[in-house]
Amino acid sequence: MTIPDPPIVDISTLTFTDVPLKPTAGPGPYTRRDLYEERQTPEAGIGAFAATSIPSGTRIFCEESIVMLPDEAGHVDVYNAVKSLGEEKQVMYWALAASTKASRDVAWIDRLRGGCDEDISSTFNDLVSSHEQAWSIYETNRFTCKSVDGCTKSLGIFPQAARLNHSCSPNVFHRYNPVINRLTVHALRDIEKGEELLTSYIDICHPTVVRRQILKHWGFRCRCSACDSPDDDEDFRRKRIEDLFSKINKREGKRVKNGSKWTDKEYKRSLGAVVKCIRLLEKEGMEETDTLGVMYTDGVRLAVKVGEEENAVEWAEKVVEIERKCLGEDSKEFVAAKELLEMARGVQRAKAEGS
Ligand SMILES: [Zn+2]
Repeated sequence: MTIPDPPIVDISTLTFTDVPLKPTAGPGPYTRRDLYEERQTPEAGIGAFAATSIPSGTRIFCEESIVMLPDEAGHVDVYNAVKSLGEEKQVMYWALAASTKASRDVAWIDRLRGGCDEDISSTFNDLVSSHEQAWSIYETNRFTCKSVDGCTKSLGIFPQAARLNHSCSPNVFHRYNPVINRLTVHALRDIEKGEELLTSYIDICHPTVVRRQILKHWGFRCRCSACDSPDDDEDFRRKRIEDLFSKINKREGKRVKNGSKWTDKEYKRSLGAVVKCIRLLEKEGMEETDTLGVMYTDGVRLAVKVGEEENAVEWAEKVVEIERKCLGEDSKEFVAAKELLEMARGVQRAKAEGS
């Protein structure tokens, strides 16, 4: 086992333009780097800022991971993965922010000691520190990466996306796209030149107190417009959205169990909750795939059940637009949305022909 080099990287000198460009063999959107720049923020480290006005739905960038490991990877796996990177990528990795506290689980230290040569004792503490630093960076910057079938979860490090700071009212949306093996970042609305690009690290439906608790993982207190809003109604609406989500999911769980026993009235009751939730989400500007997209998709299925084909088609068209905006046409979610729209149109056609 070799002794690690200490992570001596002065992040103030690492600007966005220093990051080497990949060969331009890939499709255009993969290498696009002209829409934003990285610079220091007053309180939240380095952030990403629009270098020009960016229209809603634009794919701002997408990138490959430099480290991707199974969900259950531990300190030693992470450290070994980082040390196996080429020099440039190691520099990128060590330059990322580390804001999580040391893990309480220290059993890995004994395993590490067991695997070391006997003469390492004088530098063992340095080795442990380097493992802890690698782990803290990993914990702070990892993104969830699900396989195409959604069954396998990995965690990946994407140095560009890692620079995106958090907001509970985000203006961009990120997700790993397993079809192209890249994490994509899209504009959720029109963004003006100079605005900071902000994504959400968490489920934005939670009320403020819960969001604050979850965000402690990254060691900061969110100062976004939703968290600092003097408007209690906004928090109430998010709580209501969360309650409606939970109620709709519970009802859907019951329906799957005894689907054949559901009456028209029960489908309509679920549809009523979905419509209420859609109105609240639109009022809050929470118009991304995990919130509004999910609700419109539920709405389409329920509308078909109760014979509201026109609504089903209109809502399915909304799902297609939301997936295009948040994830792009090369995502499996976009393909599924197109299928949903075809299904709704098919039902509408069949009814028109039958009447
Ligand atoms: Zn916030």
